[in-house]
Amino acid sequence: MILNLNKKENLYCPICKEKLIIDGTIRYIDCCNTTNISDKYICKNNKCYLYNNSYWNDYGDYFSLNHISFEKKFGHTKYAALNSFAKKIEIEIYKKGLKDKTYLSPLLTLLWLKPYIEHNYKADKWGNILKKTYKLKFLKKQKDSKEYNIYYISGIKMFFFSLKQFKIKYKKYLNNKTENIIYEIYNEFNDNWDKRNYKKLYKKYIKIRYFHIINNIKKEYNFYKKLNKYRYKKITENDFNELLKICPNNINLIYKLKNISASGKILDNFIRKEKLLAIL
Ligand SMILES: [Zn+2]
Repeated sequence: MILNLNKKENLYCPICKEKLIIDGTIRYIDCCNTTNISDKYICKNNKCYLYNNSYWNDYGDYFSLNHISFEKKFGHTKYAALNSFAKKIEIEIYKKGLKDKTYLSPLLTLLWLKPYIEHNYKADKWGNILKKTYKLKFLKKQKDSKEYNIYYISGIKMFFFSLKQFKIKYKKYLNNKTENIIYEIYNEFNDNWDKRNYKKLYKKYIKIRYFHIINNIKKEYNFYKKLNKYRYKKITENDFNELLKICPNNINLIYKLKNISASGKILDNFIRKEKLLAIL
């Protein structure tokens, strides 16, 4: 289907409802600071108070120097032309003359959150409201302020976002248990600096939902933490036995130590000893 961009729909005066008449062109600056040229529409009904003082563009946007005095005098705020896109957004976006939120009882105000209901509308090009929907939202108090003035991103949303991130890390962990990945996943449920409510809930959830692997991760984490002490330090037989006790089954301690430790000769002795034990 080829859209006929030249085909224009008739626009109508929002007050007297008469068809608007094209009378020359206008230049106007839109919301993106671009200059546009459009047909100029006017109301030719001399009994209408928008006669001779107002005009509209192709989209139905209203232009007049008098609109503030009109609003005061006639109590009317919706001047976008009827049968226009501007009429639709006057309701859906600007919610002109409509309720945009309802604050709930102060009794429902949580310590740090103030709930309110946001009203949303779907409208047609004639300004008829087709659908009304409601959304529960929260305002948050700014630090050291008595006012609730920050839009609060629901903790539930953040909770699910964190969970998604965790699943990515978990998958990585299952595929490749490197030291870094183990530190990363361990910190997901053990760091204590983040006291936000959703984060506390998230950590609790992870510990319950993934309890079967939490112990392994903890073991691996503790092992690596201890192992790292020997990065630049010689190891004694006691140290070795300690490490062996906490070494998870899937990790080859001697191999790891050989890679990080300065204890070459001592390790060789251990290896020999182990081999001897194996033969015996
Ligand atoms: Zn009119």
